[in-house]
Amino acid sequence: MPDLQTRTAELRQLDDQYNIHPFCDGKELHERGATIIAKGSGSYVWDSDGNRILDGMAGLWCVNIGYGRDELADVASSQMRELPFYNMFFQSTTPAQISLAKRLAEITPEGLNHFFFANSGSEANDSIVRLVVHFWKTEGQPEKRLFIGRNLGYHGSTLAAVSLGGMKAMQALGHEVLPDFHHIPEPHHYVRGGDLSPEEFAKKAAAELETKIVELGAKNVAAFIAEPIQGAGGVIDPPPGYWPEIQRICRKHDVLLVVDEVICGFGRLGEWFGSQYYDVTPDIMPMAKGLSSGYLPISAVAFNERISEALRMGGTLTHGFTYSGHPVSCAVAEANIDIIERENLVPRTREEIAPYFRKVLQQIADAHPLVGELRGQGLLAAMQLMKDRDSKTFFEPSEPVAIDCRETALQKGLIFRAVGSAMVLCPPLVITRQEIDELADITAASLDATA
Ligand code: PLP
Repeated sequence: MPDLQTRTAELRQLDDQYNIHPFCDGKELHERGATIIAKGSGSYVWDSDGNRILDGMAGLWCVNIGYGRDELADVASSQMRELPFYNMFFQSTTPAQISLAKRLAEITPEGLNHFFFANSGSEANDSIVRLVVHFWKTEGQPEKRLFIGRNLGYHGSTLAAVSLGGMKAMQALGHEVLPDFHHIPEPHHYVRGGDLSPEEFAKKAAAELETKIVELGAKNVAAFIAEPIQGAGGVIDPPPGYWPEIQRICRKHDVLLVVDEVICGFGRLGEWFGSQYYDVTPDIMPMAKGLSSGYLPISAVAFNERISEALRMGGTLTHGFTYSGHPVSCAVAEANIDIIERENLVPRTREEIAPYFRKVLQQIADAHPLVGELRGQGLLAAMQLMKDRDSKTFFEPSEPVAIDCRETALQKGLIFRAVGSAMVLCPPLVITRQEIDELADITAASLDATA
């Protein structure tokens, strides 16, 4: 990329001049200049200066099959030549969309066989809010319109998705949480468990949902939404027993269970979906990211029979997007699923790569005085950095220790994400043992440099 290298400074200047970056402090970015990523292959990306960087975040939790898959480029190209787009007032469809829906029905948990397509995780979750309220109206229960999410939950950036989520900083920007949205605490044993065993804490954390449902009145509560593992909130995996209890409580009160698979779907935890990993059956399952491994924007919401019947037969569904079921995105998503299947990435993650990843990270976590907790499952992990792990003293928000560590790692050739004072890792499913060793070496060296 010699041409790009000589142009890095110019590109940075143009970026600064024209782009508004999401989730960034513009002043800070103006000072440092955006990182310009120009190329990717397998588990690596290259910046415009030609530096090769191991992508410990699979892009933004999404490039499950890794970069540089010509097969997907070919599929996109031939679909674009055949039919780049069509939508006859929502009364038409395309072979690519039909084929993807059928394929998804084969891999989603039993009973989830109908799909509504959108373009992002946020749109999927925003759609769920509208469609669930519509569903309850068709059931003759229009008062069921309240949603319960969790503190530190992340479900996207649109107004309804932000309201479903529990990110205080996001809710401080623009509108506050919409009136019909409520939250319960996150099931983080290390932070909130006190003297309770993980199993005891699981019961207590799940009971907080029942308390909230009773407080709001079950007749008013439409749905509970949660990620199998809270991703952007810092990779908070619930203790054993939490999920079955959550499912029991939702069923008991006829509250729909929405399991947000945007990060955990498509093999991340060593099962196709996080709900399978935790052995729960959602009523509604939004998915995005790994659906196309980020090669094109697409999301889908799977609905169970009861809800999809109401959505299909309950009058005109006044909801949708121009690009719902975009044929090029659908064709690419199906080819992505083909690759995950053909290369056995789900069992490989479960049986081989995730156990190795966790073993290596656990060794670092045990040995390094900065690390208080290693959490996560499958190929999704976070190391909690602590001021003093023996007395369990957390860093203050004003102490950007994980960001310092992230910057060091980037210089050494590894991308991870800093969430509060945690280091988050979510590599492509195709990562090799050798690449995990490299990831571990850089992680340990960056921790040493930060300590
Ligand atoms: N849901 C979860 C669990 C996510 O992690 C995200 C994004 O990170 C979203 C929804 C929103 O997806 P998008 O950024 O595609 O709108």
